[in-house]
Amino acid sequence: MNTKFIFVTGGVLSSLGKGLAAASMGTLLKARGLNVTILKLDPYINVDPGTMNPFQHGEVYVTDDGAETDLDLGHYERFLDQHLGQANNFTSGRIYNNVITKERRGDYLGGTVQVIPHITDEIKQAILSVASDDLDVAIVEIGGTIGDIEGLPFVEAIRQMRNDLGKDNVLYVHLTLVPYIKTAGEIKTKPTQHSVKELRSIGIQPDIILCRSEVELSDEIKAKISLFCNVDKDAVFTCIDVESIYDLPLSLYEEGLDQKIAILLRLSAKNPNLHTWEELVKKVHNPKGRTSIAIVGKYVDLKEAYKSLHEALIHGGIANDYAVDLVYVNSEEITSENCAEKLAGVKGILVPGGFGSRGVEGKIETIRYARENKIPFFGICLGMQCAVIEFARNVLKFKGADSEEFAEKTPYPVIYLMKEWFDIRKKSIQRRDKESEKGGTMRLGAYPCVVKPETRAYEAYGVAQVSERHRHRFEFNKMYAKDFEKNGMTISGFSPDETLVEIVEIQDHPWFLACQFHPEFNSNPLHPHPLFREFVKATIQYTK
Ligand code: GLN
Repeated sequence: MNTKFIFVTGGVLSSLGKGLAAASMGTLLKARGLNVTILKLDPYINVDPGTMNPFQHGEVYVTDDGAETDLDLGHYERFLDQHLGQANNFTSGRIYNNVITKERRGDYLGGTVQVIPHITDEIKQAILSVASDDLDVAIVEIGGTIGDIEGLPFVEAIRQMRNDLGKDNVLYVHLTLVPYIKTAGEIKTKPTQHSVKELRSIGIQPDIILCRSEVELSDEIKAKISLFCNVDKDAVFTCIDVESIYDLPLSLYEEGLDQKIAILLRLSAKNPNLHTWEELVKKVHNPKGRTSIAIVGKYVDLKEAYKSLHEALIHGGIANDYAVDLVYVNSEEITSENCAEKLAGVKGILVPGGFGSRGVEGKIETIRYARENKIPFFGICLGMQCAVIEFARNVLKFKGADSEEFAEKTPYPVIYLMKEWFDIRKKSIQRRDKESEKGGTMRLGAYPCVVKPETRAYEAYGVAQVSERHRHRFEFNKMYAKDFEKNGMTISGFSPDETLVEIVEIQDHPWFLACQFHPEFNSNPLHPHPLFREFVKATIQYTK
């Protein structure tokens, strides 16, 4: 194994952007020609974030292999421009689950199973599982804040790893907050000192300190942090607030972060080639114009709940040299009376995915408004299912048409639980099985989708087959396919065996397309997703 490890911990408080800092390090090391991956270790007890409420934890991110992961995996994929999977995200719950399974199986031969060494060994094994001869660097982000009780086993495990693997193979990076007290006009290093003290009490001496700060840190301040925290003077970096998250790798590069990492880890890597990233950032800062798009969903109070969507729309803007202003609208507040007023002025409307009936009627009203007023519309997952319900109710006049998720006894189950398909899937793709409270299984991860020629979908993709990620339980009911097609809703994407509907669109509309999958998980700033590119383009062309 040739892999070296960079462990990223966070101090003082959460939400400092540890995930973005780890992702940016990834960008820089990859630009040096190194083979890089990033892992996230989350201290909570949930086995994975799949069942967690997006209101609390933000979006559940889905990888090609069907893992439901922390949203930081999204940052990693977008900044690394590569696909990650189940092996890149572990929670305490998953670690404990593995250990308890082994204990029940008798693997520990009657020994007392303890946090040290059993849990810590399991953590180390999870981290080491990504290592190989081809992988140069694995960046490992530890969720939470140093000092949290629940994060201790992870911190202990990474402490041991320096002894196990040797100094040249393990690096500790600590991200802290360096607040600027406006009234005093002073920058304060004390929280950083305390956080490093806490880290040292567990036995870890950081090699690099990243200081999240509103202002650039002077050499004097850096020297002070270096002295009190016992790190090299040139190992203290400012992680300054940036206008766009995509500025961060360049701002850290200018400070020399990748250079310092390369020296400390003895990486024989050339200087980074950041040309494409620089071009990207230039585009982000110099848009030709602006467009505005409403996201109508129920998780709008926590922006993190739509993280990938938000980014994918920004990428769609980048592809068109435009900036996208996003307006979040709560679907629970939308009615047929106030819809026009709530959505006034936007040039495009997106209805995202979701679970449960709350806010669904507002989404359906929104879609009717977009369809009738010919406003560019993009529906994703539940957004597509709502578009199908709206069309069934208002165009096909299927009174009471619904999804079985919301009305089990609907006379027109245009969206339904496809039991046969679940049975087939259960047998063939075990790894993606997840028992749901409804006894069905979720369709998770990447599946192929055939794109019908001469449709908006084909216009966007330009190829006959694509792969897209899924996370849902209900499907379009093909029993009604003919009714939809005869009346103007075209099925433009389907599974290769034609049993599942993946994309629908209305061709007699400036741009009305909805898909069962989540294209936002396949978009990154260097390769904006074709559907987002075309949707944003349609909003730019929309003149009302
Ligand atoms: N609740 C719907 C389903 O389970 C849609 C899921 C989603 O939007 N991710 O099919």
